[in-house]
Amino acid sequence: MVESFDAIVVGAGPGGATTSTLLARAGKKVLVLDKSDWPRDKICGDGISGKSMDAIKALGLEDKLRTAESLGSWGVTFSGPQGDQVSIPFGKHIAGKLAPGFVCAREVFDQVLFDASVESGADVRIKTTVTGLIREGEKVVGVRYKTPEKELREARAPVVIGADGAYSVVARELGMDQLDEKHYVAAVRAYFEGVTGFNEGQFIELHFVDEVIPGYFWIFPLPDGKANVGVGMLSSEIKKRDIKLKPLLDKMVAHPKFAERFRDAKQLTPTKGWGLPVGSKPRTMAGDGWILIGDAASLIDPFTGEGIGNAMVTGMKAADWIGRAEEAGDFSAAFFSGYEKEVLDLLTHEFRLSHMMQKLGRWKWLLNTVIAKASRSTELADAISCMFDDLSERKKLLTPGFYWRVLTA
Ligand SMILES: Cc1cc2nc3c(=O)[nH]c(=O)nc-3n(C[C@H](O)[C@H](O)[C@H](O)COP(=O)(O)OP(=O)(O)OC[C@H]3O[C@@H](n4cnc5c(N)ncnc54)[C@H](O)[C@@H]3O)c2cc1C
Repeated sequence: MVESFDAIVVGAGPGGATTSTLLARAGKKVLVLDKSDWPRDKICGDGISGKSMDAIKALGLEDKLRTAESLGSWGVTFSGPQGDQVSIPFGKHIAGKLAPGFVCAREVFDQVLFDASVESGADVRIKTTVTGLIREGEKVVGVRYKTPEKELREARAPVVIGADGAYSVVARELGMDQLDEKHYVAAVRAYFEGVTGFNEGQFIELHFVDEVIPGYFWIFPLPDGKANVGVGMLSSEIKKRDIKLKPLLDKMVAHPKFAERFRDAKQLTPTKGWGLPVGSKPRTMAGDGWILIGDAASLIDPFTGEGIGNAMVTGMKAADWIGRAEEAGDFSAAFFSGYEKEVLDLLTHEFRLSHMMQKLGRWKWLLNTVIAKASRSTELADAISCMFDDLSERKKLLTPGFYWRVLTA
């Protein structure tokens, strides 16, 4: 038996849940297939940035998220290889009593979006693995999948949305899974409880310690005294220096700089790794009868490692373009190139600047100088803060004036 739908979404993570919710709310018959058992964890830093929050608000899910188990975060702490540390509140420009960002375990955050997709009327099937695409010539017309009972089935639709993350089977089927180590980050994460010494505004912490450069060690506070702790680095560097990330995380926890804070802490989960396909080299995002969103399209910020916001933003854009395609009766590559263009127009500049920040992050002397000076200059600290919550401010990195300010601060 072959079922037919208006759209098939592969993956119910933040990207897939966003697209399916919007399509189902617009009255479309949507099939969502996800191989995991839900609620499911996703290896992540659990940082929910302003961009993700804007998408949550656009979906009308802000109240649900704020009542879910999450912790408001009011700023970010950086430390440099030399040991200097600076704590910068997120934009003083952000008015209001609500925290601009959150830390929320993905098991909780993704479930809010997953529930929205189910409530909107999408046909969401879990423990169901997509194994391949069905094609007619160049055109994708459906998927093959395995049910929880291991039966092989097919479903058809004029458009298939690949929202299946970093190891996307849809991208692989389309011949786009080649790993470019210069544009791929690997990271490991573990949950702890009892880590001490957090800033009272529950700031997230990025530590540029000698051993993890170019990359960083993060400690993000979670509710109930828990913390998300991890380390990530560009894959080409990991390979070049033959680094093993799991022992590196143990080394960071025992590092003289952090050991006291972890003295009475307990590791709650095993250290697990996952890949981050970053946006310094995005994939082709659309073709005849298909669209890729989020990690499947390689859209993670190359500097911060954030990808939830971009998965949701591209999820919204995909839903919009599918609506337009249905009206035009045109699901062709030429039509969907409009989706890809819109995404590139939105993100290319941001990715270029983040890629540049990633490269600057290799220069220890620069990290030391910027962090040491920012710890003494509120003006410079404010400029850096803007770079995190107002992406247009990152443009200042391209101006000599920024470096002059660093040197003279
Ligand atoms: C260590 C680490 C730390 C990170 N920290 C942050 C952070 O703090 N903040 C942030 O914004 N981003 C962070 N990211 C990036 C973020 O996790 C991703 O960008 C985000 O999860 C992308 O969402 P997505 O919907 O595209 O994919 P995913 O969240 O990966 O969802 C994909 C879904 O597809 C399903 N699936 C996969 N294959 C199949 C298949 N064959 N058939 C059916 N279903 C399938 C999976 O079960 C999954 O539910 C981090 C990533 C890593 C690895």
